[in-house]
Amino acid sequence: MPRRRPGALRAARDLEPHRIASWQRDLPPIDRLSRTTSALVRNAEAARPGYHVHPGSVRTNLARYRAFLRLPGEKLRLPTSGCLSCPGCQYDDIAYVRDALQDALMLLPLPARTELRRLLDTLDTRFRRRTIPDRWSSRTDWLGESLPWWHRRVYTDVRGAE
Ligand SMILES: [Zn+2]
Repeated sequence: MPRRRPGALRAARDLEPHRIASWQRDLPPIDRLSRTTSALVRNAEAARPGYHVHPGSVRTNLARYRAFLRLPGEKLRLPTSGCLSCPGCQYDDIAYVRDALQDALMLLPLPARTELRRLLDTLDTRFRRRTIPDRWSSRTDWLGESLPWWHRRVYTDVRGAE
């Protein structure tokens, strides 16, 4: 059993009972998350939809992330999306899938956030191992800010960076 700080216990007690209806606990869990965290994910998706976050997005994006990591081969290059501005196609680029999961993570109350973060840590470790860092990546967001580390990997459209 992991040690839990008293504060974390208190937060869990305060948040869970009145935020999750009993019928929500009967829904199938999302990926490998607990039923409680799955319910809190659904609450966050419904209550605070955003650019990347909407009902069902966490389940879909965890499935996309796992599918990418299951691809055969030693090293994987990130597929580029043909049209990044399109809500359907942008997730062909797995870095945007990871963005979406990060956005959802930040919407969760603490005990649930810790659980999803732990799950993402496991997948991220595999992602780091299976992809190639691109130290010269010049990818930036539309404000020119540098993107999170999962964008700075070698893409299929980059030649000669092995
Ligand atoms: Zn498109």
